[in-house]
Amino acid sequence: MKCKWKILLCIFIVLILIIVFNFYYQKSLNIPLIVDNRNFQMNSDLYLNSLISNKNKAKILSHNSKIDTSNLGEQEVYVTYKKNFKEAVYKFKINIIDTLAPKIECQKELVTSIGKEIDLLQNVKVYDNSKELIQPVVKGDYNFDQEGNYSLKYEAIDASGNKTEEDFLLKVISLENSYPKIALPSGAKIFVEKSNNGWDIYKINGSFYIDDYLIVNKTYPLAEGFIPKNTYKSAVGVTKQCQDCIDKTVYNAWLDMKHAAEALGLNIWIQSGYRPFQEQNILFERYIQRDGIEQAEKYSSRPGYSEHQTGLSFDLNSIADVFASTKEGKWVSDNAYKYGFIIRFPKGKEDKTGYKYESWHLRYVGSQLATKLYNNGNWISLEEYFGINSKYPL
Ligand SMILES: [Zn+2]
Repeated sequence: MKCKWKILLCIFIVLILIIVFNFYYQKSLNIPLIVDNRNFQMNSDLYLNSLISNKNKAKILSHNSKIDTSNLGEQEVYVTYKKNFKEAVYKFKINIIDTLAPKIECQKELVTSIGKEIDLLQNVKVYDNSKELIQPVVKGDYNFDQEGNYSLKYEAIDASGNKTEEDFLLKVISLENSYPKIALPSGAKIFVEKSNNGWDIYKINGSFYIDDYLIVNKTYPLAEGFIPKNTYKSAVGVTKQCQDCIDKTVYNAWLDMKHAAEALGLNIWIQSGYRPFQEQNILFERYIQRDGIEQAEKYSSRPGYSEHQTGLSFDLNSIADVFASTKEGKWVSDNAYKYGFIIRFPKGKEDKTGYKYESWHLRYVGSQLATKLYNNGNWISLEEYFGINSKYPL
C-alpha cells in the first residue's frame, strides 16, 4: 500500500515538471526574436518584418507595416503574435539615427568679370535624408574686384552634424584679356566709308572691318577666295569637323564654354562649322531649289556672304527653332557672351541682320564686345551696334 502511494506521488511530480517545463518552453518559443542591429537611418524605408528574425518560428499576427523613421531617437515598436492560442503583444525599441551626409549639387565653375558680383549660391542645391532645409555656405576667400581663379568650397551641415564639402572654381576675369579680339591679318587698312553711327568701315585684303572686327553680312561680303588663317590644321577642302578648321582663339574659348556647360550637365556641340566658298555655293543652290530664292535667303547666305566661311562662326546642336527653348539653348543665350560669343542673329532683329532668329548660330567677337551686345539678355545685333545695313546689292 505504501509503495503504491509512492509511485502515484512520483507520477504526480513528473507530471508537474512536464507541465512547468512545457509552459516555459512554449513561452520562449512563442516570443518573436528581434534582429540584433536596431539602428536605422532617418527617413529610410523600414518595414516591421525586416525587424523580426524568424528563428523562433513565432506566429506573427501584425501586418508588415511601414515604420515611421522621420524622428530621431528611440522609438517603441509593437508586434502582435500568438501565444498559447491567444493574441499577445511584444514591445521593443529601435533607434533612429542620422549619419548620412548631405549631397550638394552645384556648378563646378562660375565665371564673372571684374567688379560684377554674382550670387555664388544661386544654383546650389542641397539634399539630405533628414529632409531639413540646409543652407549651404561658401568657404574660402575671393574678391570680385580682383582678377583671379579662386578655389572655393560649398559646405553643407545637417542637424546631426554630418558635413559635406564640394569644390568649385570662381573665375573673376578681365573682359579685355580673357577672350580677346581676333588678331587682324597683315595688309593695308583702306578706309571705305563711315557707318550710320560714325564708325570707320575699312578694308583689309578685300574684306570689311569695323573697330578691328571682321564684318560679314548681306551688305559686306568676304574677299574673293577668303580662307581663315591661324586655324587648327588646314581649312582647305570640305570638312565639317570644326576642330580642323576653326580659329585657334575661337576654339579655346569654345572649349571653355563647352566645359562650363558640361559641368551643369548640358551637352553642346558644334554640328556645322567652317564652310568654304564652294560648299556654301552647293548648299545655297540646294536651298533655292527646295524653297525658292526668297525663302532661302532668310536662313542661308549666298556664297561669299556667309560667316561660316570665316572660321569664327558655327552652328550648335540642331538647326531648329526648338533649340532656343531647350536647356542648352537657354544656357547658351545667357552665357555665350562670357566666352566671347554672340547670338549673331537675335530674336526680333530680322530687319537689322537680314536673317531670321537663329539661336544656334554663334559668332566669336571676344568677350568685351560680346558683353556689350549681350545687353543683359536683350541681344543687340552687330548691325545695330555698328550702324550698318545687311541687304544684298540689287
Ligand atoms: Zn550658321
